[in-house]
Amino acid sequence: MKAFDRILRNGRICDGTGNPSFHGDIGISGDRIEAVGRLDAAQAAETVDISGLVVAPGFIDLHNHVDHGILAYPDANSYIMQGVTTSVVGNCGLSMAPVSDAHREDVRDYLKPFLNKKHPYSWEWSDLSGFFSCVEQSGTIQNLAPLVGQGTLRIAVKGFDPTPATGDEMAAMKKLLRAELENGAFGMSSGLIYPPGSYTGTEELQELARVVASFGGYYVTHLRNEGDRLIESVDEAIAVGEASGVSVQLSHHKAAGRGNWGKVNATLRIMEEARARGVDVTCDVYPYPAAMTTITSLLPSRALEGGIGAMLARLKIPEVRRELADEIWQGRMKEENWIRGIGWRNIVIAESRVEPRYAGMSLEEIIKERGGSDPFEAFFDWFLEIHGEATMVLFGMDEADVRTIIAHPLSAVISDSWVTAPEAGGRPHPRGYGSFPRLLGKYVREERVLSLEEGIRKITSMPAGKAGITRRGQIAEGFFADLVVFDPQTIRDRATFLDPHQYPEGIRHVLVNGQPVVTDNTLLGPRPGKILRK
Ligand SMILES: [Zn+2]
Repeated sequence: MKAFDRILRNGRICDGTGNPSFHGDIGISGDRIEAVGRLDAAQAAETVDISGLVVAPGFIDLHNHVDHGILAYPDANSYIMQGVTTSVVGNCGLSMAPVSDAHREDVRDYLKPFLNKKHPYSWEWSDLSGFFSCVEQSGTIQNLAPLVGQGTLRIAVKGFDPTPATGDEMAAMKKLLRAELENGAFGMSSGLIYPPGSYTGTEELQELARVVASFGGYYVTHLRNEGDRLIESVDEAIAVGEASGVSVQLSHHKAAGRGNWGKVNATLRIMEEARARGVDVTCDVYPYPAAMTTITSLLPSRALEGGIGAMLARLKIPEVRRELADEIWQGRMKEENWIRGIGWRNIVIAESRVEPRYAGMSLEEIIKERGGSDPFEAFFDWFLEIHGEATMVLFGMDEADVRTIIAHPLSAVISDSWVTAPEAGGRPHPRGYGSFPRLLGKYVREERVLSLEEGIRKITSMPAGKAGITRRGQIAEGFFADLVVFDPQTIRDRATFLDPHQYPEGIRHVLVNGQPVVTDNTLLGPRPGKILRK
């Protein structure tokens, strides 16, 4: 008679493939699932009765920024409590490596607004392996699958220089990219709203994507514009796939700004047509109608040229202020124009390190508090006072669009957040605590936008397949025992925009590589996560 380390008994098994769920037991030995089915006769050192509960593969978040905080939060608190056992990191062009000696200061400036402030970063590493060996020293509760960020890569070669890459610079970028892919990176991400991603032309992206394709990796992109130029930006991403043969993922897909609502019906159709031509394009979505990013994204990217110091100096010049204000207010900005698109009222500060009291205030409130007749003058003055360092929540999407994308078979569901914990304070976007339980509570159970099996597929086998993560994302013999056990009747997100630091309800057990790490919102101690390599 077979003996396992652990048996989960009488669960409703959603195996991650999208196939109908079934009732059965799961036998685990070491870090693997050894048997699935009726295991009545089997023995185990530990048996857990999960009658009435669903067991699913551990959730795989294809898009988050856990790498920016994992050294401060090795228990990935806000993530592991949602059942996310694997995070794909290095998204939006913002990876922690490669780092060159010539541009170490530049990459620090670049990532500073995103990095968790609790940790002193040594910046002694030069490549992803170097960074992740720092992570391995404190351990990680989650598995992490790294991407190379195109912004970080470009900085390593030419800093914040906005000119097109020369032949030599192109060769240098490709060499660094190839080295990271040889070391197991899963693909390349871009963030085409953030300098220097925003300085990068389509051909430069295509040339890098050819290298990624030659390793079987994928290209994932935060589009150049998710508002007025959404369609053109989707076309650009597909053109990168078409020219290079790379598999393409559109990050946190949305239509930003009231005037663009409904455009996602067109973009989803464009994706279907591209797939019919042989481009492997898919997308992902976080289940909220509000975005979050850094405050500098409100300005045309040319305002950011030369890095943070140059930007702040420029914003002191009255003529520059006037030009920027006109460009925004008259709708000539080529990046997405949040101020004009959703108004000061719908832009709410999440965190401001320099002056914490601004957390939770809208720009309308901040401008009013400062007085004066010109809102842009008040905004620029405030912006200088906080050194341009704040994150913000943007209430700019349509709930119907969110639902349309979630329901579409080509979308994965993601969080697009940073790791945090209740003691961190501030008002982060609630997606960092609630994305996955919200999918299963609000969209699956309450609104029946999709079936439980399909919801689970979008956060397990689908992201695993896209990223090329093997032996995870399904409940099957020989797969790693990353598992989530939850109550399908009660699972729900509790984090809100006003009160975001709330763990979800209904998640009973989380296992990573065969080891229990969470039971009923309590961390059990071990950090069995691994750095994954393709
Ligand atoms: Zn992004």
